[in-house]
Amino acid sequence: MNDFSALSHLECSRTGTRQDADVVAGLSPTGAPLLVRYDLDHVRATVDRDALAARPADLWRYHEVLPVRGPAHVTTLGEGWTPLLPAARYGAAISVPGLMIKDEGALPTASFKARGAAVGVSRARELGVGGIAMPSNGNAGAAWALYAARAGLASMIMMPVGAPDVCRREAVAAGADVVLVDGLINDAGRLVRERMAAEPERFAGWQDVSTLREPYRIEGKKTMGYEIAEQLGWRLPEVIVYPAGGGVGLIGIHKALQELVMLGWVEGPLPRLVAVQAAGCAPIVAAYEAGLDHAEPVEVTPSVAFGINVPTALGDRLMLTAVRETGGTAVAVGDADLLAEERAVTAAEGLFVCPEGGACLAAVRRLRADGWLDGSERVVVLNTGSGLIYPETVDYRLPLVDRDGRPAGEGSSASAGSASMGR
Ligand SMILES: *Cc1c(COP(=O)(O)O)cnc(C)c1O
Repeated sequence: MNDFSALSHLECSRTGTRQDADVVAGLSPTGAPLLVRYDLDHVRATVDRDALAARPADLWRYHEVLPVRGPAHVTTLGEGWTPLLPAARYGAAISVPGLMIKDEGALPTASFKARGAAVGVSRARELGVGGIAMPSNGNAGAAWALYAARAGLASMIMMPVGAPDVCRREAVAAGADVVLVDGLINDAGRLVRERMAAEPERFAGWQDVSTLREPYRIEGKKTMGYEIAEQLGWRLPEVIVYPAGGGVGLIGIHKALQELVMLGWVEGPLPRLVAVQAAGCAPIVAAYEAGLDHAEPVEVTPSVAFGINVPTALGDRLMLTAVRETGGTAVAVGDADLLAEERAVTAAEGLFVCPEGGACLAAVRRLRADGWLDGSERVVVLNTGSGLIYPETVDYRLPLVDRDGRPAGEGSSASAGSASMGR
C-alpha cells in the first residue's frame, strides 16, 4: 500500500474468497464478478473528508479509494465532478420538489462510461496490459477506445449494428478495431471471447474488459456515489434512481455508499436505490417482481434507450441485492413514456437528457403517482449521458421557407427523427 491508493485485494462477490489485486484478473474462480477491497481503516485514519474540497474537481480526488497505485498511470481526460442540478420546475410539475439530476452528459465522450473507462484503462495500463477488447452498446466502446488511445493501448470493440452511429465513429476515430454485430450485446460479448481464443498470438497481452469481467470499471463508476454524497454536504439523499443495463453504475453506487459509511464520512440509512429498465428488456425488474435472487433470460424488444438493452447481466445478483438491501425497487418503462419524458424535462429544465435519463424520470413520475415516493424526499436521478448522442430520439416537423421567407420545397416543411430501431 502507498499513500496514493489504499488498494488491498480482490474478493469474489459470491464467496468472499480473496485474491491478489496486482495481477490481471477476470472473473473469480466461481465465475462471479470480483470486487475491489481497500484498507478503509487506513483511509479513515489518514484522510479528512472535509479536506477533499481543496482537491481538483475530477474523480481522482478520491484516489485513496481507487485502484491505481501510481499517479503516473492515471489516464485522464478530466472526467468526474459532474453537476448535481436541482430540477425545481420539473420536480414541482411531478410533485417531487426535491428532485435533482446529476448530469453525466457533461463528461468526456458525453456519457458516464468515461468514469469506468478512465479507471479501468488506467489500472490495465499499470498492470502491463497491451490492448483491450470488449462488446458495447455504443457509449462504453466509444469511451474505452478513446481512453485506450490516451493510454497508448490498442483496442477492439464489437458493437451491435443498432448502437448509436456517433459512438461507432468515435471508436473508429480513436483507432480502435471496430466490428459491427448483427445481434445484441450478449452476442457481441460471445464473439469477443471467440475471436480472442481463436487468435492467441494477435491478442497476447490483451484483456477482455467486458462488463464485470474485469474488476476496475465498478471502481470508476462508484465515484458517482462519492460525488453525490460530497455535493450534498455528506448528507445522503433519500432515493437514487438509475437506468440499469449491465448494472455497473448501480453496483458501484451501492459499493460507494457502503464504503462511505465504513469511512465514517456519512451516516446511514443508505438511499433507496431504484433500478430502471426499458419495458422491452427488463430482466432485473422481472426478477425483482418474482422475488428471485438472480435474473432469468427474457424476450427482448430493443429499446431506443440503447445503453440499457442488456438481456443477460453478470451483475444480476449484485443489482438485486443493491435494490433489496436499501429498500429500493425496480421499474420498467415503455419507450413512448421515456421519450415523452426526455422531451418534457429538456423543455422544463434546459437539460438535453438521454433516453436512459428519460426512463428514470418517467419512473420517478410513476413512483410518485403510486405513492412509493411521498414527495418529501430528496431524489437524485442519474442522467447517464447527453441527448446529443441520440439525436433521432427527437422527432420534428419544421416549417421550411425559401430565402424570401415563403413556404418552400415539398410540402413546405422538413421533418426528421425516428426513434424506431434498425437505423
Ligand atoms: C451503459 C449505459 C447505461 C447502463 O449502465 P450499466 O452500468 O451497464 O448499468 C445507462 N445509460 C447510458 C447512457 C449508458 O451508456
